[in-house]
Amino acid sequence: MPRLAGKVALVTGAASGIGLESSILFASEGAKVVMADINETAGAAALQRLFATVGYTPAAGAGAGDAPAIFVRVDVSKEDQIKAAVDAAEATFGKLNVVFNNAGIMHPRDDNAMTTEESVWDLTMQINVKGVWWGAKHAIPALRRAGGGSIINTASFVGIVGAATPQLAYTASKGAVLAMTRELAVIHARENIRVNALCPGPIRTPLLMDFLNTEEKKQRRLVHVPMGRFGEAIEQAYSALFLASDESSYITGTDFMVDGGLTAAYVTPE
Ligand code: NAD
Repeated sequence: MPRLAGKVALVTGAASGIGLESSILFASEGAKVVMADINETAGAAALQRLFATVGYTPAAGAGAGDAPAIFVRVDVSKEDQIKAAVDAAEATFGKLNVVFNNAGIMHPRDDNAMTTEESVWDLTMQINVKGVWWGAKHAIPALRRAGGGSIINTASFVGIVGAATPQLAYTASKGAVLAMTRELAVIHARENIRVNALCPGPIRTPLLMDFLNTEEKKQRRLVHVPMGRFGEAIEQAYSALFLASDESSYITGTDFMVDGGLTAAYVTPE
């Protein structure tokens, strides 16, 4: 029995990295997936990659609801666009069971308290925090209509530990995601709605690797990771799958660390 058989999932940031691998894995495990992303070109390619991976070719006369996934262009910082994505899930696949609020940015000019521009701070909060709020606001009524469900919000290990390579707005935004997740979990716990935060460590996706563009920058981080390597997006996807599935039915309100041991470490192996 596939682990998400009969479920409909909405994944934001689905055109790349963690969101893309999760969309493909969720579909491989039987879910119908609404892939939402601001990047339409990458989104179209991501949808084709999902189709190829699960072996789907549209038959003549097939409707959108026959496909394992659809792509919708969504800017998560715009409330009406998130609402439209939830509506698309219900209109195309009949319901919504799983919401993975995963889209996020790490702005290249995000820095310390003195140098971070207010516009960078505001944009980061608008996408990383308000995007998660809008995701909850519009998904929860749909999850109620489906009899319950699972919300997964992507936070980060930097919501737990401080980094002397500063990205103050990003770090503050992920701390907000963790706090919001706990409160949502408690509020909705008796409605069969679970809410958990996925806390990736440093992962080998464009978000981080575009920024860690020298070996020196990479090593400055890797010395703090007990496993001595960056994580892979698929490793986050497997964790999101667990939180999305009924296998995690007694888990809500957690900071679900998937970080190679980073937040557990004082001195790492040589
Ligand atoms: P990624 O850059 O590979 O993918 C992010 C996706 O989000 C992209 O497809 C991008 O187009 C999309 N996106 C950006 N802004 C958007 C918006 N306003 N609306 C809709 N989509 C938008 O990055 P990733 O590493 O897969 O990141 C996914 C999540 O994981 C983010 O929330 C990020 O903060 C978090 N995270 C990443 C790391 C890491 O090391 N990569 C570590 C901890 C947390």
